[in-house]
Amino acid sequence: MVKQEKIPEVSSVVLRPTSIEEAWELKKEIGTHAMFISGGTLLQMKREQGTALHPYLISLEKIDGMQEIQLKQIDSEHFLVIGASVRLADVRKHALIKQEWNILTHAVKEVAAPAVRNRATIGGNVCYMVGDTIPALLALAAKACWFDGNHLQIGEIELFLQQYQLNPSLILTAIMLPSQILAENKINVYKKIGRREAFIPSLVTVSLNGSFTSEFRAEHIRIAVGGGTYLPKRLIDCEQLLHGAVLTKEKIMSLYETIIREYNPASDAFVSSEYRKMVAANLIISELSSVFDGKV
Ligand SMILES: Cc1cc2nc3c(=O)[nH]c(=O)nc-3n(C[C@H](O)[C@H](O)[C@H](O)COP(=O)(O)OP(=O)(O)OC[C@H]3O[C@@H](n4cnc5c(N)ncnc54)[C@H](O)[C@@H]3O)c2cc1C
Repeated sequence: MVKQEKIPEVSSVVLRPTSIEEAWELKKEIGTHAMFISGGTLLQMKREQGTALHPYLISLEKIDGMQEIQLKQIDSEHFLVIGASVRLADVRKHALIKQEWNILTHAVKEVAAPAVRNRATIGGNVCYMVGDTIPALLALAAKACWFDGNHLQIGEIELFLQQYQLNPSLILTAIMLPSQILAENKINVYKKIGRREAFIPSLVTVSLNGSFTSEFRAEHIRIAVGGGTYLPKRLIDCEQLLHGAVLTKEKIMSLYETIIREYNPASDAFVSSEYRKMVAANLIISELSSVFDGKV
């Protein structure tokens, strides 16, 4: 039998910088003994599961400008900028998000229970790397704004996730939602399949965003998928297969093989990769079919 060692209870020192530069310097100075903390819900959960907290926690909560939701124009594009420290409960309640970017509202509703959402932040959910908001943000073509020690960078959320994997000292400062395309016929889907009570990441999560013409021709379709410990990603080949095509039943069904080929999640203790692929393919096809049910 494996001998279980109890992790000694050592309380961490919480540091509260008031600027991003100060937070960065603290992390640089203390190195691997420190980590950033926002709402602390994920770190608390890990602690309860037996992972000791770092001796120093650098709280991002007091940094100005990271707690607001604002409309902004950047280089002639309009964005809704959500500070990384905005609580998930506030994202969920936000009337404009509900109206314009409702798959994000939907995604946030799927995260844990109200008590967790009252503390948890959108930045913490994204930096979790398997957070439920990520597929929705990918489908919405969201951008991220982050500090790399020298500058504030703005880039696709995919780029931030890649860079953060390589360098967890980056500080995510905001999520930026671009204006939605004006279209009469929209496709807005967010579906999470899995258990959340005793939190384990979802089995599969899919999110779709786009529009279609009055002739049912697909436009601007984005498809994102996540689940398990798999970093959510877009299914670019599937998007290309649909782009400009008339969304007949046959066309939608023809997506199946491409999804199976393009989505390659790892197996884990709960389910195999093959099962996850099949669930994702069925889910995407049934959600798309229900948008066009009886119309084409
Ligand atoms: C009971 C329970 C149920 C849960 N259920 C779900 C669920 O259904 N779906 C889901 O997605 N998650 C779930 N979680 C996980 C977690 O609570 C959420 O993902 C939450 O959004 C994390 O946000 P936080 O602000 O609390 O992050 P924290 O715990 O503060 O931080 C999370 C990670 O992100 C880093 N970080 C935080 N903010 C930043 C930043 N601005 N820049 C750089 N790094 C940063 C931290 O260093 C840490 O590694 C659950 C947690 C609990 C306790």
